[in-house]
This record gives sequence, C-alpha cells and structure tokens, in this order.
Amino acid sequence: MSRLPDRGRGMSLIAADHACVRFGGTEVLHDISLRVDAAEIVTIVGPNGSGKSTLLRALLGITPLAAGRVSRRPGLQIGYVPQRLQIDRPLPMTARRFLSLPVRHSASASAAALARVGVPEVAERQMTDLSGGQFQRVLLARALLTEPDLLVLDEPTQGLDQPGEAAFYRLIDELRRDTGCAVLMVSHDLHVVMSASDRVICLNGHICCQGTPRVVSNAPEYRALFGLGTQGALALYQHVHDHDHTHDHGHDHSHDHGPAPDHPKSDAHHGHDHA
Ligand code: ADP
Ligand code: MG
Repeated sequence: MSRLPDRGRGMSLIAADHACVRFGGTEVLHDISLRVDAAEIVTIVGPNGSGKSTLLRALLGITPLAAGRVSRRPGLQIGYVPQRLQIDRPLPMTARRFLSLPVRHSASASAAALARVGVPEVAERQMTDLSGGQFQRVLLARALLTEPDLLVLDEPTQGLDQPGEAAFYRLIDELRRDTGCAVLMVSHDLHVVMSASDRVICLNGHICCQGTPRVVSNAPEYRALFGLGTQGALALYQHVHDHDHTHDHGHDHSHDHGPAPDHPKSDAHHGHDHA
C-alpha cells in the first residue's frame, strides 16, 4: 500500500506524502510529508492551533485530506489516545470498567495493562478519584489493550507537573523497549520531549523543521517559533517552566508566536512571519 520508497529501513508504519487538510476555505495543514518507522519515538511540537491534533487525525484516517496521501502499513494496529479525552467527571466509573469501553477486556488483561503502566492499584478506583498522572496512565493502559504497533498520543502529559511528565515519558520509553511499539505523540512541552524522542517534528501549519532533538532544538525555525532567540538549552528549560501546567490549554507564554488564525496559503517556503 505504501508508495513511499523503501529507504533501507523497511516499510514505515505510517507516512504522509504532501498531505494537506482544509477546513472550509482554510488550509490548516500544508504539504506535510513525514514517516514513522518501527520502534521510533517521534514527537510533534508546535503552538496551540498549529494543527498537531489535526495531523494525528489525518494520519489515522479520521480527518480527510484535501491533497496528498497518507499510507499505513497493512494490518497496522494503532492505540490512540485523543487529546483531553473527556470523562464525564461526575459519572461514576471504575478504572477497570473504563478499560472495557468500548471493547470488553477480561479482568486479567485489564489488570495486566494497569500493572504495565505502573498503576496496578487503581483497578477498582473511580476514574474521578485518580490523580492526573494515574488518569493518564489508565488512558495509556486502554490504548495498550489493543497490542498496538504504534501508539498515538495527543498531549499525554497535559496537566501533569514536571516530575509527573518526566515519569510518563520514561514509561513510554520502557514500553517502546519492551513491546517494540513505535510512538507518535504531540506535546507542547519542550524540554522533556527533547530528551525523550528519537525525532522531533516542529509544526506550524506546515513542517518547520524535523530531525533529531539536537538538530531541531538548534534550528532557527524551531527557535523562532518558540521564541527562544539565541539562548541555549538551559534557557529552553527555564522558558518552558516559567508558567504553570495546571490549566488545560492556552499557555500563557510571554511571547506570542501562535499561528495566524487563518494561514494565508503559504507558498513555496516556510512562510511564518515571526518578526
Ligand atoms: P493543535 O492541536 O496544534 O492545537 P488543531 O489541530 O486542534 O491544533 O487545530 C488546528 C486548526 O484547525 C485550528 O485553527 C482549529 O481551530 C482548526 N480546526 C481543527 N479541527 C477543526 C474542525 N473539525 N473544523 C474546523 N476547524 C478545525
Ligand atoms: Mg491539539
């Protein structure tokens, strides 16, 4: 099915080839080409509204393309955790019951999945009583129940504090090592991502840059997008954590490099204008 050339590393699990997505007249994703290979951890970073969630959904075939194509390896098993999956907070539901929605799983399979993500004790607890970190792990356990080749996680550490976030990324790395699954995730938290990813894709309606964390963090496009100027890695760390992570969205950065609300059809080059 994949029409991408084999570059010697076997067929990609998933690939986009000049993919575009439009909503109404607005081009939200422009000319996206990327691939995720087996057992890779790839992280997409970008400001709010830069099309990260849309890109995941396009890769999963949920959101149709206006142009280009997406290919998935035949038979690819994907575990997807959408952004801010809303549990009706007042609705009573144990973690174990949550794991069996919508597909029923045995108690032993559920228990094993919870153990695998480090929260064996929460099976009979109410979802509403879980800490942010436990909650995210239960979401991950649910995705793991499908025995995925590829985990797709949309801002899985949203709402976690920094140690919680670091622990979550360590878990992701363990899972990749143990199961060999690849991971494609979205984050707008930068510094942990940098150490926890094999490759980083910097998105702002188009791919600004992609590569190893080191290459991306030094790329002028990346640094401009995140308002990093010419400062070094320490500044990156400080920059990221001079705000709190308790709110859901809308990071209150002191800079304003969000994408223009409507991307004028950017031609040829990476046309973001961060003056
Ligand atoms: P991110 O995940 O990077 O914050 P999104 O992918 O959620 O960004 O959104 C990218 C842009 O596409 C935003 O301007 C958003 O309003 C718009 N958008 C997302 N989904 C839809 C939709 N279903 N219909 C119309 N516009 C959408
Ligand atoms: Mg999003």
